[in-house]
Amino acid sequence: MKKLLFAVGCQDLYGEEVIKKVTDDGKRIGAFLDGRIKDVVSIEFRSTILSSDQVVRLMNEANADEDCVGLILWMHTFSPAKMWIKGLQILHKPLLHLHTQSNERIPYSDIDMDFMNLNQSAHGDREFAFILKRLGIKHKTVCGFYQHESVVSEIREFAEVALAIDYSKNLNAACFGNNMREVAVTDGDRVQSQIDFGWEANYYGIGDLVDLISQTTESETDAKLKEYSLKYQFSTDRLESVREQAKYDVALHKFIKKNHISAFTDTFQDLHGLRQLPGLAVQNLMGEGIGFGPEGDYKTACLSAVLMKMSEKRDGGTGFIEDYTYDLTQNQELELGSHMLEVSPKLASDKPRIEVHPLSIGGKEAPARLVFNGIQGKGIQVTMIDLGSSFRLIAMEIELIKAKDMPKLPVARLMWKILPSFREGTEFWLENGGGHHSVISNCLTLDDIRLFAKLTNTDLVVLPSNLKN
Ligand code: MN
Repeated sequence: MKKLLFAVGCQDLYGEEVIKKVTDDGKRIGAFLDGRIKDVVSIEFRSTILSSDQVVRLMNEANADEDCVGLILWMHTFSPAKMWIKGLQILHKPLLHLHTQSNERIPYSDIDMDFMNLNQSAHGDREFAFILKRLGIKHKTVCGFYQHESVVSEIREFAEVALAIDYSKNLNAACFGNNMREVAVTDGDRVQSQIDFGWEANYYGIGDLVDLISQTTESETDAKLKEYSLKYQFSTDRLESVREQAKYDVALHKFIKKNHISAFTDTFQDLHGLRQLPGLAVQNLMGEGIGFGPEGDYKTACLSAVLMKMSEKRDGGTGFIEDYTYDLTQNQELELGSHMLEVSPKLASDKPRIEVHPLSIGGKEAPARLVFNGIQGKGIQVTMIDLGSSFRLIAMEIELIKAKDMPKLPVARLMWKILPSFREGTEFWLENGGGHHSVISNCLTLDDIRLFAKLTNTDLVVLPSNLKN
């Protein structure tokens, strides 16, 4: 279980009784918050901090503990901030500054100086906030009584983003083949993305996969087909084609497990030894949370894996999409997003159908794929581009709608309104260099992306829609 460490700032001038009370409050508040978000991470109270040495020990523990995805700090009393400098300088995990009190209300008839000395986060957290600012430490601040729903939900959001960052820092991606020839936006500086986000995106020959496919047994393939029949609806009698994809799926599964892979890419220009472009196989893996980027797009593969992790405990769908074509009816403009094959069933609003159709590109056999209508509701679209000097995240709000009937379209499809209007949203995307591959979600928000960008020090441009949920 991944965890957040929680520690409380104090100082030793107040005496044993106050320190004990601070520690008791820390334990109680930690246990309360743990109970509220333990489906995402556990929250473990660590200590009441009285000295620089203790801060350093806490930060060393947070850094070294593989299960620790971040730290929550709260100054119950005044806590001189110079003692935090040395430790904060070595912390390299996400930090949440919790600005709260153990009491919700002021006990007006009883309040005395002892009460004020004990419960002075309004004072102590300002001292702490100053040193965070002075040190330039990117962090999230959450203000309010710790039991209030708004506070709990902000801490939950931080936990989900911290979990995704931890996932990102340990993410291995397999690139079968290279970037599609001549394509610009899908390419990028893999050394820099590893430095910035932790992504170890390495090349593998498609032959490595073909070997595994050839070793797939009949019973492994049968078991995969059984799984498909439980999850999807068969709308084809070309079962050999589905069987071929099932073999790819089994082989990819083994490869992913063996090499600790969380995301992968392929390209239809390098399918030597494969009879079909992997379609259904890739879609089924995406449905299990594996990131994917087509045409060698390792950034989208990794970003989609990270954002799927971030949204894993939420209701809704998150996954890769490609901008395809528009309905430009004036003032009612709509976008249609899809891909050649590879759209995640996590983005489905109805039970996906397995269909087999020829592909007009690549010169291979007709591949099996999942066809479905997409999720609906308010959502976001987010992409990452490499500007040479830095990576940039671009994010905007959209409204996913029920797709129109398109009986001859042989792929999964999503339709949405670009917000706040087609003109404003599309101009924003294009002028910021947004590419045609992105991640779409109806359960992540711009705030999640803002926090991810802040904590990973990533350039971000966003276009809010002002549309209410
Ligand atoms: Mn594409």
